[in-house]
Amino acid sequence: MVNRADAIVVGAGVVGAAVAAALSAAGRRVTVLEQGVPGGAVSGASLACIGTHMMDEEELPLLAWCCDAWAALDAQAPRFEYSRCGQLRFLKHDGERRSAETWIGIERAAGLAPELLEPDAVRRIEPELTGPIVAATWSPNSAVVNPFLAVRTLLDAARSGGAGIVAGAAATRILTAGGRVAGVETAVGRFEAPLVVIAGGPWTQDLAATAGVDLPIVPRKAQCLATVATRPVIRTVVGACKAEGGVDAGYTQIQQAASGQVLFNTVLEGGVTAAGGRDSVPEVDRAFVHDSVDTLLFLFPRLAALDLLRSWVRYEAVTPDDRFLTGPAGPDGLFVAAGDGGTGFVRSLGMARIVADRIAGKESPFRDDIYRPDRFVERAAA
Ligand SMILES: Cc1cc2nc3c(=O)[nH]c(=O)nc-3n(C[C@H](O)[C@H](O)[C@H](O)COP(=O)(O)OP(=O)(O)OC[C@H]3O[C@@H](n4cnc5c(N)ncnc54)[C@H](O)[C@@H]3O)c2cc1C
Repeated sequence: MVNRADAIVVGAGVVGAAVAAALSAAGRRVTVLEQGVPGGAVSGASLACIGTHMMDEEELPLLAWCCDAWAALDAQAPRFEYSRCGQLRFLKHDGERRSAETWIGIERAAGLAPELLEPDAVRRIEPELTGPIVAATWSPNSAVVNPFLAVRTLLDAARSGGAGIVAGAAATRILTAGGRVAGVETAVGRFEAPLVVIAGGPWTQDLAATAGVDLPIVPRKAQCLATVATRPVIRTVVGACKAEGGVDAGYTQIQQAASGQVLFNTVLEGGVTAAGGRDSVPEVDRAFVHDSVDTLLFLFPRLAALDLLRSWVRYEAVTPDDRFLTGPAGPDGLFVAAGDGGTGFVRSLGMARIVADRIAGKESPFRDDIYRPDRFVERAAA
């Protein structure tokens, strides 16, 4: 059976769902192909913090736009547990103040409103954070969402614009004719369209390679823990200050889900690896469990009796500069949107906007050149 559409989106994670919603809103007939279950890969495993704090300076305009776009989506379809809870990054030592102040300066220059708070002010925002911190940064525009419900909301938006979602359809090859894209071959048949967007997370490069496109994406281990549900205690997203050396030097993210579970995501020195199987689901590192529990007890000592319930691991798609590869790639009509660097949830709506604007021949409201999929090839040639 041959299926025809204006555009095919491969992958129904948050990025593919956002691209499908944006293309449908622009009036295109879209088919989304998902090899597993929508939201069932990295996106569903995410802590899904939506924020701008201590991230990439050059991406701040896009990140700020994304935060507003998530808030607007919530106003339109309040079905994904969006909570604009703000984000605190705690300082354990006075030596961290300089780095915190630098970040605050960068973000204020970009029109954002972070602050450095002394412990009393922190406790007015997060009353049970009674641990011996020396200060914390406060980023009020951060939010959290339920990752599964967010993917579903975006796919519902795409569906209401006429999109079809096909689950269990693994795309095996990009089809071309006369030097341009003609569609996608899958395990359940051939799908034809003059536009194909690969939003396959850490699997993107395999499918792109079938069209002769080489993408520098490697998998990186991300780990999560969840406790049993407890009374509402943690109101914000709480993390460690971004240390010199970035995430590879270790940072912690703790938040409480609407279900009452406390969630942890820690990237530890030595716990981060570019090696590993995207398809394997190994155990979390023992060091990660210890670090998570230590950090929780340091910050919230009254939660000492809370039991851990479960843990999970996923492989995020990482590029050499931690930025997405988003835009046209290879034959005419082929686009990619992947390589999230561990913060793809917040950036998904921006990536979708870049792809939709590019297809419509419009300019995006922010820089899109820093995401060009061919930027590493050009740098190597220079
Ligand atoms: C523990 C953890 C915590 C995180 N916390 C945050 C956070 O707080 N804030 C933030 O912004 N980000 C966070 N992230 C990162 C964020 O979740 C990811 O960047 C984002 O979900 C990536 O979305 P995606 O759509 O690119 O990938 P995925 O969700 O992996 O989606 C890709 C989809 O494509 C499908 N696919 C691939 N190849 C094919 C094929 N050939 N045919 C058909 N289907 C295919 C896959 O099955 C998959 O469903 C976190 C991630 C993890 C793991």
